[in-house]
Amino acid sequence: MVDVAVLGSTGSIGTQTLDVIDQNPDHFRVVALGANRSVDVLVAQANRYKPQVVAIGDESVSDAVRAGVPSGTRVVVGVDGLAEAATRADAVLNAVVGFAGLPVTLAALEAGKRLALANKESLIAAGPVVGKARQTPGAELVPVDSEHGAIHQCLRAGQSTEVARLVLTASGGPFRGRSVNELGDVTIDDALAHPTWSMGPKITVDSSTLMNKGLEVIEAHELFGIGYDDIDVVVHPESIVHSMVTFRDGSSVAQLSDPDMRLPIGYAMGYPDRLPTPFGALDWSKPRQLNFGAPDHEAFPALGLAYDAGRKGGVAPTWLSAANEVAVDAFLSGRIGWARIADVIGEVVASAPNTIPCTVEDVLEADAAARNAARRVIAGMDAA
Ligand code: MG
Repeated sequence: MVDVAVLGSTGSIGTQTLDVIDQNPDHFRVVALGANRSVDVLVAQANRYKPQVVAIGDESVSDAVRAGVPSGTRVVVGVDGLAEAATRADAVLNAVVGFAGLPVTLAALEAGKRLALANKESLIAAGPVVGKARQTPGAELVPVDSEHGAIHQCLRAGQSTEVARLVLTASGGPFRGRSVNELGDVTIDDALAHPTWSMGPKITVDSSTLMNKGLEVIEAHELFGIGYDDIDVVVHPESIVHSMVTFRDGSSVAQLSDPDMRLPIGYAMGYPDRLPTPFGALDWSKPRQLNFGAPDHEAFPALGLAYDAGRKGGVAPTWLSAANEVAVDAFLSGRIGWARIADVIGEVVASAPNTIPCTVEDVLEADAAARNAARRVIAGMDAA
């Protein structure tokens, strides 16, 4: 029996994680839940799973959580509360959205826990700091991101010295096939209509710009230690091949399933064992076509910006991720158009200093500076 903390339990990944746990009651027990501010869902989950600890990120709604949870459940508050909840379990599912997930990532690793990581931003923004935390005895990071979960599986087919290339697949998002000229007037609803995956709003917009894939390139570099020249992105609209590893003898090993996040979630929580419950298993008796093609860097410049930031290293990925979060927020609130998201990121990352974040404080400082820079760029667009 593995004691699990699900942090970010009320979002898309969090609720799918609880579904995996429901279907594997002999494997997993929920000991901690946490959310930023979705009180009603969190309280309902707390009454169902009766965890030891419930964490609520937003202090202003903590009284409502305290009033609603079962009597045996302790409520912890704020970013520190979420991080504390992470130390209560054998395995931590970090599905907090965005940079706010960093304290959970670090707390889980520094406590020597299994971290099932859905929060790619913490790894991207704080690569060197997370890398240090991963050295903690007992600490183990298994990615939940479907592409990286796929690569994690494919890597089991050979030695690390035998890996030639990582090939990340991208669905291409809702705007795949459109030229740069056909992307000028897309709406928020257009960007939120993902063709194959059902996800939260931030990552869905990231998929529409291909920034999600760009962040995943950096994530793959950080997770697997492969250089940027050896990481490829290939557009695969069916989202059946979740990624591949090409070995030095020419073999490409791929992981395939229907798009269902419960499979990589269960893999990350159950590794090195495979869970007995199948999710997304393919029906091979049906004819199907799988297509692959190169990404359009002109229509989707965010992908190239991410490669550039990754190669530059230091705080550049921190700035990239922070600028993206601010730009996506501005897009979702109607302040900037879709095509401006990449413009904001490009302008902000170009002004990033050449420093390396060695501590959490360095990362927080870089993140804040990048957010300020992004807000200034967006304000300039408003004025124009
Ligand atoms: Mg992904």
